[in-house]
Amino acid sequence: MSKQTLSFQAEVAQLLHLVTHSLYSNKEIFLRELISNASDACDKLRFEALNAPALFEDAPNLEVRVSMDKAARTLTITDNGIGMSQEEAIEHLGTIAKSGTKDFVSKLSGDQKADSQLIGQFGVGFYSGFIVADKITVESRRAGLAASEGVRWVSGGAGDFEVETIERPQRGTSVTLHLREDAADYTSAWKVKGIINKYSDHISLPILMQKEEWKEGEKVEGDESGATKGGEMVTTDEWETVNKANAIWARAKKDITPEQYEEFYKQISHDFEAPLAHTHNRVEGSTEYTQLLYIPAKAPFDLWNRDKKGGLKLYVKRVFIMDDAEALLPTYLRFVKGVVDSADLPLNVSRELLQESRDVKAIREGCTKRVLSMLEDLARNDVAPKAEAGADGVTDVVSEDEKKAAEANAGKYTRFYAEFGAVLKEGMGEDFTNKERLAKLLRFASSTTDGVSVGFAEYKARMKEGQEAIYYITADTLAAAKNSPQLEVFKKKGIEVLLMTDRVDEWALNYLHDFDGTALQSVAKGAVDLGKLQDEAEKKAAEEAAETFKPLLAKLKEALKDKAQDVRVTTRLVDSPACLVVQDHGMSTQLARMLKQAGQTAPETKPVLEVNAEHPLVKKLDGSVHFNDLAHILFDQALLAEGGLPEDPAAYVKRVNALLV
Ligand code: ADP
Repeated sequence: MSKQTLSFQAEVAQLLHLVTHSLYSNKEIFLRELISNASDACDKLRFEALNAPALFEDAPNLEVRVSMDKAARTLTITDNGIGMSQEEAIEHLGTIAKSGTKDFVSKLSGDQKADSQLIGQFGVGFYSGFIVADKITVESRRAGLAASEGVRWVSGGAGDFEVETIERPQRGTSVTLHLREDAADYTSAWKVKGIINKYSDHISLPILMQKEEWKEGEKVEGDESGATKGGEMVTTDEWETVNKANAIWARAKKDITPEQYEEFYKQISHDFEAPLAHTHNRVEGSTEYTQLLYIPAKAPFDLWNRDKKGGLKLYVKRVFIMDDAEALLPTYLRFVKGVVDSADLPLNVSRELLQESRDVKAIREGCTKRVLSMLEDLARNDVAPKAEAGADGVTDVVSEDEKKAAEANAGKYTRFYAEFGAVLKEGMGEDFTNKERLAKLLRFASSTTDGVSVGFAEYKARMKEGQEAIYYITADTLAAAKNSPQLEVFKKKGIEVLLMTDRVDEWALNYLHDFDGTALQSVAKGAVDLGKLQDEAEKKAAEEAAETFKPLLAKLKEALKDKAQDVRVTTRLVDSPACLVVQDHGMSTQLARMLKQAGQTAPETKPVLEVNAEHPLVKKLDGSVHFNDLAHILFDQALLAEGGLPEDPAAYVKRVNALLV
């Protein structure tokens, strides 16, 4: 292949522009990204070589070398990993394979601060080289190909890149950064070593740099003691390993600093932000493995992509096996990042095999439990304990350290929930074994607390005497839930109702009929049964109303026979004339509406219209010459009040206007 110029995929070109313009406050991360790629390439070679040992050629020791050339102002990262063929170089360095990329790029605004955050969540990998370089040269040969099938890829990071065939005896890749003038100090060995220590110490592969030596300058003329001047550090031909080169997860917890945990997270997740929490354990027993799991602070841009792979890397006895091992955690925990290193699995385990392995099942259960207990810890410490005097008037002494620890964890669960709460809810339908534990982790808005989320346990603890159910309502928005007519009687009686406004709520609640022995009851389903919360007089009044209203109800039913399944008198309303409810086990009108919007078929169930016998409008109905119009208006308004739309909006407007005139 002679030299040819190709264009970057449009999104890459856009991304590159933003990378170079918004990431320079955190320049040095480019080295972490490039070393991470080099390390991945070595991992891939080791894995492929399990079945094809010849791929090692004559260089079985995998390593990364970092070298600098001050005069040429370049920094080169060389690995002897899997390498790239010509097609692979074009494909992998010219396009982004991640799904949702277009979407992501369209969200970038040009505002540096906001963009650098987003880019951090996206992960720019190789392209981060352009933060410090105005030109990058990549030379590579894929393991197993002939020396004559090497490739050189060169780009200035604008719209295009050049590729050509080269002769390359050694396999693997070298990435040479032609540094910008203001990034010249990345040719300093001292500086580069410092960055490697900071970001890449735990890479399980040796990172080598040339040793430097002090070269004495010239003797100072006439100085008896032999002083010299003009000495300098010069690079020698001797290479030394500059990182610890042992896998962080295999080390003892006490030897790992919080910074190292954080850097390892950034390395594997490509996230620029520190994680919210991590857990690191060696599990022994019938299945042995080590887990190092992280909960990110921010949801990735593609969290809602259902095909998104899991975030766990699988190793077997320190040998990398695969990325995105989705078999290791259920889908609803897809936001968790980390590493699992098994002592039992065979090295040549495939994805298919993983699905069937009993060891993997045990690991999956173990990891799930670990994540849930990590979340439980965060939830427990969400509110920092205040030092308050007890009943005996004595205030417990809280040490500064304890206070600090509590404060450090305060608010974390709230942050977690805001990012991932909706995903966690998917677990209600996915993970029956842990349903109870998950239910305890759920939080909702409530009709009696403003802006503060409430869990079922907390709700239960403050239920009214005689209250037999946990009441909730689902709606499209918080405002709609809060102001829903169905809530009126609950407000009047001071009974708390959970307000559920996430799209998955209704679905998730399908799987949860009670919490800790207390039934969950939608206030928009079935007849209101306030049970003991209703006094005798109220019950009697309701029964009487139902009796006297019988003829009117029959007329309403007839007028609305195409719209309502039934019409009845209710005690759940206070200010509103009417509302819609569904039968006990029916699908809520809200869910039915959502399904229809999504183009799916929802069962055609008609709602029940409930009327408030005390309301003047309802009282006026009987004998009105406009009976038919009023009946339809009553129904359509009830629909509007819960965020729905009348089937024939124009007819509704016409009716209202006729009455107004
Ligand atoms: P990511 O690593 O997240 O996939 P990058 O932009 O960093 O994204 O890299 C894109 C692709 O280029 C990688 O997935 C890999 O296939 C290839 N690549 C990058 N660096 C190397 C390398 N040193 N050796 C082999 N392949 C590489």
